[in-house]
Amino acid sequence: MDKIYLKDYEKPPFVVQTIDLEFELHNTKTLVTSKMQVKRAGKENSPFFLNGEELELISVYLDARELHESEYELNELGLTLHKLPEIFTLEIKNSINPEANTALDGLYKSSGIFCSQNEPEGFRRITYFTDRPDIMAVYTTKIIADKKDYPILLSNGNLFEEGDLGDGKHYAIWKDPFPKPSYLYALVAGDLGCVSDSFTTMNNNEIELNIYCDKGNEAQCSHAMTSLKNSMKWDEERFGREYDLEVYNIVAVDSFNMGAMENKGLNVFNSHYVLADADTATDTNFMGIESVIGHEYFHNWTGNRITCRDWFQLTLKEGLTVFRDQEFSSDLNTRSVQRIADVKALQERQFVEDASPTSHPIKPDAYIQINNFYTATIYEKGAEIIRMIHTIIGEGGFRAGMDLYFKTFDGQAVCTEDFIWSMQEASGFNFDHFKLWYSQSGTPEVDVKTVFDKKSKTLSLTLRQTFFSPTIHEQKPYFFPFKIGLLNNSGHECGLELEDTVGQTLIDKGILLISKEEETFVFKNIKDAPILSLNRNFTAPIKVHTAYSLEEYAFLMAHDQDEFNRFEASQIMASMVLHKLIDAVEANDAMNLSPTYKAAFEKVLLDMDMDMSLKADSLTLPSVSLLMQERAVLDVEAVYVARNFLKRELIRELGADIQTQYASLDRECEYTLESKEMARRKLKNTLLSYMGALKDDTPVLQQYQNSNNMTDRLAALSILANSRGEAKTQALEDFYKRYKDNTLVMNKYLAVIASSELKETPSNVKALLEDEVFDMKVPNLVRSLIGSFARNALHFHAVDGSGYSFIADKVLELDKLNPQIASGLVGVFKDYARLNKEAQGLMKKELEKIVNTKELSKNVYEIVSKILA
Ligand SMILES: [Zn+2]
Repeated sequence: MDKIYLKDYEKPPFVVQTIDLEFELHNTKTLVTSKMQVKRAGKENSPFFLNGEELELISVYLDARELHESEYELNELGLTLHKLPEIFTLEIKNSINPEANTALDGLYKSSGIFCSQNEPEGFRRITYFTDRPDIMAVYTTKIIADKKDYPILLSNGNLFEEGDLGDGKHYAIWKDPFPKPSYLYALVAGDLGCVSDSFTTMNNNEIELNIYCDKGNEAQCSHAMTSLKNSMKWDEERFGREYDLEVYNIVAVDSFNMGAMENKGLNVFNSHYVLADADTATDTNFMGIESVIGHEYFHNWTGNRITCRDWFQLTLKEGLTVFRDQEFSSDLNTRSVQRIADVKALQERQFVEDASPTSHPIKPDAYIQINNFYTATIYEKGAEIIRMIHTIIGEGGFRAGMDLYFKTFDGQAVCTEDFIWSMQEASGFNFDHFKLWYSQSGTPEVDVKTVFDKKSKTLSLTLRQTFFSPTIHEQKPYFFPFKIGLLNNSGHECGLELEDTVGQTLIDKGILLISKEEETFVFKNIKDAPILSLNRNFTAPIKVHTAYSLEEYAFLMAHDQDEFNRFEASQIMASMVLHKLIDAVEANDAMNLSPTYKAAFEKVLLDMDMDMSLKADSLTLPSVSLLMQERAVLDVEAVYVARNFLKRELIRELGADIQTQYASLDRECEYTLESKEMARRKLKNTLLSYMGALKDDTPVLQQYQNSNNMTDRLAALSILANSRGEAKTQALEDFYKRYKDNTLVMNKYLAVIASSELKETPSNVKALLEDEVFDMKVPNLVRSLIGSFARNALHFHAVDGSGYSFIADKVLELDKLNPQIASGLVGVFKDYARLNKEAQGLMKKELEKIVNTKELSKNVYEIVSKILA
């Protein structure tokens, strides 16, 4: 299959200045008329190609003259016109079938609602158009539909006109004054409930805010509305950005491939990121809503007003906007808690991706299917790279760079280099070397060595980078900020004084700028050998290796002033202990609880002054997925055995303290989203997860039955789903009965069952495929049931290969319905190279079965062929 390369980019030969669209909505035959004003921008004889897929062409008019079939070329990829004047009007009529669109790409009909999703290349499934982001046109939309079934008609921009047409039909005309790429185009029609509010901007413009949802769910939109108003205020205060239309509409739909979409003035959201109340949503869901509402809103400036020249620039808008939403959440909540959550997500998902055959730079140089590049690398690593720029030039420099970026590029489709230029120009800092982060891949690793010389009172710190990529051969050392601290033996910070060496600098409070493969920094006036706190606050997205012992990490866990590093020390300690245990399981040796780890764990447990969220994070063991990353050859079962052993030992040794503290935190009170309350629930449920390792699951069942909110109820249910007793059956049956009609909550139920370690999990999952709550056409349900099972390493990697075969079959089944969801799922096979021989053989059989299937989508083909290569 054909690859598209960044180096082949050429400017479009024709640009569309305005486009007037008219839709006559119909389930199976929606008529689309598009009238474009086009201007030639390239050579005189260039052909004009318009993408178009799954469309029925009805007619083409050039400057009001209908073209004969012989005057254009038409194939399954689009329409080509030749010999065109310099300026002309093109009017195209075609029809589409929204009901048959199970790919949910372009215009589709689902649960009675017409809805569109056009990023990155859905617009070509609506009408013939040069569907690339550097064509920015002004859109006007007229929607005609049955008034009874579709009283709400929405598109981008401001409402210009609406009225009745007779025959029970009505229409609405929307005009968006801002030129935009086709991927930001949106249309929604349906019989929807609505919650309205308003926001007054910094220049006193009154903006109408609407959130549309299924009727009956209006009461669950209040958190989303509050989050929207907070986002609008925050972007004004932190970045000076004001909203620019009269109205901001959000529509929540159940069937959606992504989390949400930032279409200009008309965001479409997966209902998962809009609807919430205490009874149905967890604290994590509430936080997710705040962050995604913010993210899509912030795109209005970083993505919409300034967009991407081509899809290789995707991180230009996504990395930057994730950074912005992370900062928004940090400013509104607790910064260190947010940082820990963001880094954990990066380590769990992006580090795995970056070590796999699908590893790619945040700015890839080639793709077969761009849909496959909406990855943790482009988004989360992209955000870390923006964060490093922020760290290097500081908040003031960064804000000046952003101001310059908006001033210079507003209304344009640009490249990552234009963003870097703004940062460089505004701050005076040279980012030439730093730019390698955009073109290299893999997670850099840094080995740390220290030599303390008592006589000269100096400490030499030597850092050695390795920068291996699974997919790129020649790589160079990176440039990055590296924040450190030196702790003396009573745990106090030593001052940092660098000996004068050419080219070495210590910027702002302990941040070193690293640029060489190997580099030694010498600190002076150090009295005693210090312990180092390294990569504080995770200033660089790298892995750091030291020769520190468990005792030294226990010291850091107790004394480090950097909250992130206190957490990180707890995780490194637990990992060191767990890897020893895994080795023991693999060698058939006895397992023992490390007394040093036990003491450190106990110290945190009994620390009543510590922030409860940080405490919960520090007492949480590294996930199976994180542990598996560090194993050369995967022995999945050993990882589970070791992890469960450690949990059991900790509750056996410290059970009394864990239970007493749990009891003191388990108080009845009103559910609120205050940081303190969320932290209390998090700590309580962390302790409960240890209690779940006890034989008696009565306290877990009690929490399930008595809790007044989903956070506590779901935490208990997840624990019970791994137990064998009567309590499990009771709770699962109750949960199902109670929430059967709420598809968002049923997602949680499916995920809990599919994630269970119990041996009956595979058969439970198969039974649920046939359950009335499940529907293969709804991406959320697929991700919850099949996706969770695929990430359940114990069952996915079952030694008989049954997990591989089950998922491969589901990938093929899904590929026919929705290739994007299928390729998302097939990524779980990326551990292929690290399996033992037998497992590799079993997996290979399934991967070959997939790749040899006729009419396989480009999406799935691209991922599987990379894994097999
Ligand atoms: Zn985004």
